[in-house]
Amino acid sequence: MNRPSDVVVVGGGVIGCAVAYYAAKRGLGVTLIDRPKRGRATSASAGGLWPLGESVGLGCGVIFYKAMAGLGTLPDGVHGPGQLPRSFLDFALQSNGMFPSLAAELRDVGGIDFEFERTSLLFLMYDEGDVTFAKPLWERCPCGQGLTEWLTPEELAKAEPAVTREVRGALRFHGDDQVNPYRLADAYRASARHLGATVVTHTEVTGLRIDSGRVTAVETAAGDFPCGVVVNAAGAWAPEVGRMAGLEIPVRPVRGQIVGTETLPNVLSACLSTTDCYLAQKQHGEVIIGSTTEEAGYEVGVTPAAMKALSAGAVRAVPFLKDVRVKRVWSGLRPGTPDELPILGPVEVLAGYLNACGHFRTGILTSPLTGLLIAEMIAGDPLSFPAEPFLLSRFSQVEGAAEA
Ligand SMILES: Cc1cc2nc3c(=O)[nH]c(=O)nc-3n(C[C@H](O)[C@H](O)[C@H](O)COP(=O)(O)OP(=O)(O)OC[C@H]3O[C@@H](n4cnc5c(N)ncnc54)[C@H](O)[C@@H]3O)c2cc1C
Repeated sequence: MNRPSDVVVVGGGVIGCAVAYYAAKRGLGVTLIDRPKRGRATSASAGGLWPLGESVGLGCGVIFYKAMAGLGTLPDGVHGPGQLPRSFLDFALQSNGMFPSLAAELRDVGGIDFEFERTSLLFLMYDEGDVTFAKPLWERCPCGQGLTEWLTPEELAKAEPAVTREVRGALRFHGDDQVNPYRLADAYRASARHLGATVVTHTEVTGLRIDSGRVTAVETAAGDFPCGVVVNAAGAWAPEVGRMAGLEIPVRPVRGQIVGTETLPNVLSACLSTTDCYLAQKQHGEVIIGSTTEEAGYEVGVTPAAMKALSAGAVRAVPFLKDVRVKRVWSGLRPGTPDELPILGPVEVLAGYLNACGHFRTGILTSPLTGLLIAEMIAGDPLSFPAEPFLLSRFSQVEGAAEA
């Protein structure tokens, strides 16, 4: 039997690490247990902090293209790109606003710089359809005035000389920035450790012990870990952990494929979104080109068709890329939910259990506020953001089924 903790966090991706950090910062006794599975999302992410772009449906150029091209019905299981509800935009903006101070905080506490960069996001308008899409966003941005800027082709050429001249202009989303996602998770984890959290790696959680309607311990091959609260932060595998407690968690894996170029000199100041793909040059010089949105179960391969389509989209946006080498390609599994919102907080039927899963395309962006909220819930403190829009109970039929 291992030492009891106030909280055991299941899953060591960016969400589990953020929860561990904020809980440890509150003085709680924390154990984080992770078994790295192929396709875990944090290791695959582009690291975009795009609250505006994601909220208005620009996150993944490929699905955007399919919808805008008027294919009518999207292929089975492919969603979006709809505008997400106001509650999500507010949640995402508040989380995004935490990054500048978080960067300094995690550098001080854990000694890791997660490479926060103020880049903004530019939506490139190739044709009239793009202009028609972008204009209302510029005129009536759901975030209010001041965060969007219309760039003429000349202004775009001046701001981003490497971008194609075959454009009608661009819409800039100020405040849509980026980080290095792996370093962010590392920074949370190192900081949590520094504050006393125990990190148990390469260990699978195989069961939850429940006594009198309350979770009392987490079961692993390395023994049981007694706890006051368990947090399900298992990403695309959250349903497995939920089932250990008799809960149906409506999370599914949604594959995203990415192409990464060789290290390049500085060619892009902003992150770019187009109807084909998005592009983000990271601090280390690679340009990340993403991403597909596919229902492929837990299969984590990459496909030649996707690599070709993403590469073509990138060259269309930044012609100079046709002469550079691809360094690596990969895919990861987003924890998708039916309404694209995360699932956070308690469930009525089980005490000592909290969800922190279903972060779909925005888990990097929403990790700080998720971590903070879950830590506040564990400590019984007032919440920094209302949890109602994100509770599992919004899928009332699903929870009803679990209760039955
Ligand atoms: C291609 C791609 C691009 C993306 N780009 C962005 C972006 O630009 N910006 C953004 O904000 N988000 C982006 N995302 C989404 C973001 O990466 C995810 O929302 C986020 O990483 C989810 O984090 P997580 O910790 O919930 O899941 P994960 O990172 O998958 O972590 C879950 C962890 O739990 C572990 N685990 C599962 N079951 C168990 C068990 N039983 N016992 C122990 N451990 C277990 C897993 O192995 C894994 O380590 C992207 C995702 C993909 C795939």
